[in-house]
Amino acid sequence: MELNYIEHIGIAVKDMDAAIKFYEEVLGLKCYSIEEVADQKVRTAFFKIGQTKIELLESTAPDGPIGKFIEKRGEGIHHMAFAVNNLEDQLADAESKGVNLIDKKPRKGAEGLDIAFLHPKSTNGVLTELCENKG
Ligand code: ZN
Repeated sequence: MELNYIEHIGIAVKDMDAAIKFYEEVLGLKCYSIEEVADQKVRTAFFKIGQTKIELLESTAPDGPIGKFIEKRGEGIHHMAFAVNNLEDQLADAESKGVNLIDKKPRKGAEGLDIAFLHPKSTNGVLTELCENKG
C-alpha cells in the first residue's frame, strides 16, 4: 500500500459542545466546520493542525456506530485516517494481503472525501480509514 500522510484522527466524544470548547479554549485550535453525516448517525466537528485534522465524533443516536463505541469503550480515539491516492487500488492491495475490509468499495464521508475502513482485527486494534480527496 501507499499512504501519503495522516489525514485525520477521529475522536469519539459524548458532548460535542464541551469538547469543542476544550479544543478551542485549552488547545487553541479553531473549529472550522461542523457537519452531520446522517447515514452514520454522527455529528462531526473539524479542527486543523498542520495538514492533519482532528475529527470529533458525537453520536446522534444511541444505536449508531459512535454511540455503540462509547458504550463499549468510552470516549477516546475512535479511528485513524490516512490520505491516499487511488483508493480503490489501495483497498484491492490491502485485501490481497489478507486485510479484512469493512468497506469493499469507497463511499462518501464527511467533507466530500471518498472513504473506506479497514477492520481493526487486521490492524492491531486500530480502526483504520483510508481517504481520497478527488476535489
Ligand atoms: Zn474519519
